Amino acid sequence: SQVLSYFDTHCRQSKLVATAAEHVIPGGVQHNLAFNYPHPLAIRAADGAYLSDLDGNRYIDFLQAGGATLLGANYRPVRERVQAVLAECGPVTGLLHEYEVKLAELVCRHVPSVEMFRMLGSGTEAVMAAIRLARAHTGRKWIVKMGGGYHGWSDQMVYGIRVPGTGRMDAAGIPRSAAARIQEGFPHDLHALRRRLQLNRLRGGTAAVIVEPFGPESGTRPVTAEFNGELRTLCDEFEVLLIFDEVVTGFRTGLSGAQGYFDVRPDLTVFGKCLTGGYPMSGGVGGQRDIMMNLAGGLGGSQKKVLVGGTLSANPLSCVAGYYSILEMEKTQAAQHAGRAGDRLCAGLTEIIDRLGLPYVAYNQGSIVHLQTSGVMLMDARNPFKLIKLVREAESRKRSMEEFGAAYCAHGLITLAGSRLYTSLADTDEVIDEALNRFED
Ligand code: PLP
Repeated sequence: SQVLSYFDTHCRQSKLVATAAEHVIPGGVQHNLAFNYPHPLAIRAADGAYLSDLDGNRYIDFLQAGGATLLGANYRPVRERVQAVLAECGPVTGLLHEYEVKLAELVCRHVPSVEMFRMLGSGTEAVMAAIRLARAHTGRKWIVKMGGGYHGWSDQMVYGIRVPGTGRMDAAGIPRSAAARIQEGFPHDLHALRRRLQLNRLRGGTAAVIVEPFGPESGTRPVTAEFNGELRTLCDEFEVLLIFDEVVTGFRTGLSGAQGYFDVRPDLTVFGKCLTGGYPMSGGVGGQRDIMMNLAGGLGGSQKKVLVGGTLSANPLSCVAGYYSILEMEKTQAAQHAGRAGDRLCAGLTEIIDRLGLPYVAYNQGSIVHLQTSGVMLMDARNPFKLIKLVREAESRKRSMEEFGAAYCAHGLITLAGSRLYTSLADTDEVIDEALNRFED
């Protein structure tokens, strides 16, 4: 009731916008990450570690646009570069712009496995491109992903997410056939993966294994440090391409991403979010030259083996934003700074949880902080009874995550669904300590 009364008394302008939205926007909210319990907030301004809503309330922002703004929200040095290109050539021409090349060169310089790079419109599109590339390059069809991982909302990748602890995605409108050649393995289970690759050998072979290198759902179910190395070895043994989905980890975990962090080289890497510092149309795929050249083709497409597209992809604004964002990340050591802020936040949350005896758990990998307030996240992949129990817990967890999200909001904190917090360069010790006081309340 305290939370509801906060929204009633402090969020009247937001409520008006939210009520109008309900008439014209299905569900009243467009963005997957915008909570709508009891109603969404209408944001007016963003600056560094803070967001303000239409009513003038100020929030510490641990959503950071779903992890995209590692430099902090609305970072001025990048904004000014974007404004300059916007003034000079507008948002898009459909022709080559020098910042496309500069950004590609910068990505190739920082990310060890990337020799060539192609910009796309989103992480979802980049995953689609990586899968096409893998299939075209190997001539094989099967793609194996790890259960609970999120790889965007394309038909083939959404269908059938049903792993313990994750609930089931709403797959309405997606025919079973869309994911006919996609298989889902239990997270963390390399023995099962080996058996699957063996079996697939008899059925035409596996084109690629795609994983989030920090573990499914941005490390909500973290993998061991050895996991990625063993996965690389397994893929080599079966001559299967390894795709790292670094949409979240790319640049956030360091300029060389999770592959630098673990010192494991995938064949293809998918980027999004931080690639453009959070500016729109953020997606890209990179990898070895021989694989990437499957995208090359002249006019008429006679050589073109793999089709990718997007009218607005690789537009000058995304590319200039990406180029200067990465330069700023380099200059400011943004990933290290945000990582230390994540450590401080996680340690503070753990101290509060222990001191108050709360049945929660906080853990982090640098700037990606997880705060689980209900449900059990780690699972025994071989125990079917546990599997059923965890799925049930996931159902009730959704509601409780929404309520926690709203409760944090009423105390001036924005999180991702009440369970994940992204830190940024803007998170000074003072910001984190202020946030911890609010969490304790
Ligand atoms: N892959 C991962 C690991 C993600 O977390 C996301 C989005 O959250 C995507 C892919 C899809 O990216 P986008 O939302 O840009 O389509």
